[in-house]
Amino acid sequence: MKSSMYNVFLENEGRHFIFNTLSSKLIEVDQKSFQSLKNNEEEINTLDFSEELEKYGLVTSESIDEIRLFKHIVDKSIYDNNLRMTIVMTNNCNFRCQYCYQEKNNKSMSDEVEKSIVKFLYKNIKKYKSVYIEWFGGEPLIEKDRIIRMAKKIKEICTENRVPFISSITTNGYYLDMDTFTQLIDNNCIFFQITIDGTKSLHDTLRPHVSGKGTFDKITENLLNIKNSDINKRYTIAIRNNILKSKIKEYEEFFDYFNENFADDNCFKLIQKPIKDWGGESVKKLTNELVDSDYELMDFIKKNEKKLNNNYTDLYESINSKMCYSFKENGFAINWDGSVYKCNRNIENHKIVDKNLIGEIRENGTIDENDMINSIWTDKPLEQKCNTCELLPVCFTSGCPASWIMKKSMICMKENKEEQRFLYNIEREIKEGNAIKLT
Ligand code: SF4
Ligand code: SF4
Repeated sequence: MKSSMYNVFLENEGRHFIFNTLSSKLIEVDQKSFQSLKNNEEEINTLDFSEELEKYGLVTSESIDEIRLFKHIVDKSIYDNNLRMTIVMTNNCNFRCQYCYQEKNNKSMSDEVEKSIVKFLYKNIKKYKSVYIEWFGGEPLIEKDRIIRMAKKIKEICTENRVPFISSITTNGYYLDMDTFTQLIDNNCIFFQITIDGTKSLHDTLRPHVSGKGTFDKITENLLNIKNSDINKRYTIAIRNNILKSKIKEYEEFFDYFNENFADDNCFKLIQKPIKDWGGESVKKLTNELVDSDYELMDFIKKNEKKLNNNYTDLYESINSKMCYSFKENGFAINWDGSVYKCNRNIENHKIVDKNLIGEIRENGTIDENDMINSIWTDKPLEQKCNTCELLPVCFTSGCPASWIMKKSMICMKENKEEQRFLYNIEREIKEGNAIKLT
């Protein structure tokens, strides 16, 4: 037996931990096992818990080529028969966020495009093992009646064919009243991402309503109604804080607000992300206040560690669920006008449009096939340095394929110090007592 090349070794307050980036398992081991695996010593075979170490992927047979194993697992995910479709319902939005990258032209999906999408599902459902849909915009809930109608039909088609169906929505939360939330939940929407940027005053400045009025009160009223309702707690609401360098204090105050109002409910999670230049004109006013990378947020997050309850982590998610849909052969986005892309976040990015636009959905429910474009997203060669890197499974699966295509190489976690953020996430899990103990 040998130590897995995907082991990451951490010592914490005299205790010993190994995180395997391929199996996504975090294990506490005794000092002897730790040293033995770290130095790949011969006695690995005779260690206590050797069966468990193998089960959790920390040791493997000498004959296993782990790079091949990794590529095999990735290929299985890329070419699986799970449909991952993002539907951009509208380009319209009721907010005017200061950092929004989208050009608004107030256009929404037509009845014809809606019917074509349902027809596509109806015609192709037998090809798929599961269906996962992300409702996106602009603000998707401007089209809430259409979403509910489509979700109902898709649910019916999936139920008749015994294909599991779930969906998620990225919404600003303004129209997420109890009735809308209930209808979404009833039609298998289980994951909600809603942005709140710090305190009421900061949020209202960064994310105002199109009328110029604030939006914080309405969003939090909706969320508190949901939290206090008796609806079955099977959903996750991730509250995303987009962070600006100069306004750290406002986010700290928001964490207190979150703890007082939401942290006792596990359905509500927090995510912190830097506000970056995602394109568009309006963000240019904020240029001097942008945080460049997740790594730059580290000090801030560490400082607020005790306040940050219910933080969302994808550390334990499988390679399959971590990968962006656009990596996958059956992953694509349908825009409100029926055009079909690999990545919806780059629909307006002219630098990449020739590699992103697949074609369109037709009235009869067929979608143009474009093997050339698909292969740009599904088949990406690894650099030599990655073949011996213990972070490969995390770096590959959590990276953005669009950035990879634009920069012509994978965005290196090590070179960009993103490794620090990853190690910090593991340390947090250790502190919260979430490691599996083999001692
Ligand atoms: S921007 Fe990157 S991570 Fe986001 S959907 Fe597009 S390809 Fe995926
Ligand atoms: S890009 Fe960098 S961090 Fe990512 S797998 Fe390659 S060497 Fe490792």
